[in-house]
Amino acid sequence: MAEGPFAHAASAPSPGAVGRARAARGTRPGHDRLRAEGAALQRLEIPVVAYEARAQAFMAELGFSLGADGVWRDRAGRSYAEALAGRGRPTAFVRTWGCQMNEADSEALLGQLLQMGFGEAGSAEEADLVLLNTCAVRGTAAEHALGEVGRLKELKRERPHVRLAVCGCLTQMPETVAYLRERAPHVDLVFGTHNLHDLPRLLYRAYVEEAMTVDVWEAAPETVEHLPVRRAPGLKAWVNVIYGCDKHCTYCIVPRTRGRERSRRPGDVLAEVEALAAQGYQEVTLLGQNVNAYGKGLGGYDFADLLRDVARVPGIRWIRYTTSHPRDFTRRLVETIASEPKVCEHFHLPVQSGSDHVLRWMNRGYTRASYLRLIEWVRELVPHATITTDIIVGFPRETEADFRETLSLVEEVGFDNAFTFVYSPRAGTAAARWEDPVPAEVKHERLARLNELQYAISRRKNEALVGRTVEVLVEGPSRKDPHVLTARTRGNRLVLVPGGPEQAWRFARARIAAAETWTLRGELVDAPGAA
Ligand code: SAM
Ligand code: SF4
Repeated sequence: MAEGPFAHAASAPSPGAVGRARAARGTRPGHDRLRAEGAALQRLEIPVVAYEARAQAFMAELGFSLGADGVWRDRAGRSYAEALAGRGRPTAFVRTWGCQMNEADSEALLGQLLQMGFGEAGSAEEADLVLLNTCAVRGTAAEHALGEVGRLKELKRERPHVRLAVCGCLTQMPETVAYLRERAPHVDLVFGTHNLHDLPRLLYRAYVEEAMTVDVWEAAPETVEHLPVRRAPGLKAWVNVIYGCDKHCTYCIVPRTRGRERSRRPGDVLAEVEALAAQGYQEVTLLGQNVNAYGKGLGGYDFADLLRDVARVPGIRWIRYTTSHPRDFTRRLVETIASEPKVCEHFHLPVQSGSDHVLRWMNRGYTRASYLRLIEWVRELVPHATITTDIIVGFPRETEADFRETLSLVEEVGFDNAFTFVYSPRAGTAAARWEDPVPAEVKHERLARLNELQYAISRRKNEALVGRTVEVLVEGPSRKDPHVLTARTRGNRLVLVPGGPEQAWRFARARIAAAETWTLRGELVDAPGAA
């Protein structure tokens, strides 16, 4: 750094300095049940800390405080971002791969960047700082992200002041870090999923250290609350409720990249939802790799309780959740969903396979029969529910007979939609070490057969809605046509309706006129503001 407050770099805070500022928060008042369980909540294994206290301790050491505009500034009024970059109004761009958890993480990264005083760039090419938030679930996602790292080498050559950071699930794997060290020395900063809340300190290091800064934590030592979040425009918001996963499906890298299951305290989740409602958000999606495992260490308070309490928050109209695991889906949870009008009638229940052999090899913890019993409960208690799933084909040793079991399960359930994948071996998972005699072309041929069947079912399900009028949340203009708006039904079906931006972001009713495999077409039947 040529200039800025970091001229006194010798007094840079030690990496541990930030961690000393810890502040435990109590549960929110007003939730009697939660208060009654206060004693149980104390037993949480992982401490809870407040972001603002940690960030403030670090920033104070550098001579920065939070200005009236919500940006860290020094006494001369210079933003932290300007001081870091040594130039006026630097901008940042965050690119995201993967699931909703990664999208939510990127919103927290961007929120921190804006608080530091970075502007938002529209692309990597325009930015002074580029963050790549990566996904490791399948080989293709990993390859895309690493391909982008390679592509940005040229950008850094042309604009040497640019800083490039790589984070997310992929960087939790030591082999990725080794790869980046060896093949991508143009990367300035590598961090992981467990320390993304430490961005101010990480960037400080990335700007002052000559060599690549690598700071990846093996596990989450604490749960950090109150991160500044830059939410996408509109009425919908993500809310993390549980981090990590303890399931250890034999094909899945997530327990390695996201660590042990940690539930947020109910009071913290509810406080966030209440704050969102106060800001005008009307739909929340409760997030986790396995949301219905929520509650471990919370003295008997579980995901059904959380749904009930979130449904009590005034101003919130629709509640969604993803992803739920069939093994942890109790009849009581289905009953709760059935009895709470705000909880949308969409069940995403990843089945992965219809064969009991394969389910056992995958360590899914349920059988075809128990999965079908769950589907029966859903059909019985929430008759018009949309049911979607994830399926993996070509798992090691999957036979043609196993695969046919998957096809027959797909027929039997009649999923409204399915995300289908060819098995992708992931280093460090149990299945990656197993012999896999199924040739690649057989796997791809199975995927094509499965998709053909599922597309026909999806189309039939959509066609059954033609002529009906359904509740929708109208979102923004469609990407392909500015005169068309996208909307979502409670069952999470995509509906395209004619309309301009003045009709965006409102609840309405739409009459369905036509159906395709992935989308419905219709028209709004309410005047704007009537919903
Ligand atoms: N936690 C969720 C569950 O168990 O239902 C799924 C989360 S995972 C990020 C999303 C989906 O990716 C999984 O349901 C699975 O179908 C797919 N997936 C995960 N690992 C995979 C692998 N190694 N190869 C192919 N697909 C995979
Ligand atoms: Fe992966 Fe299984 Fe955990 Fe889902 S439940 S994140 S598939 S290990």
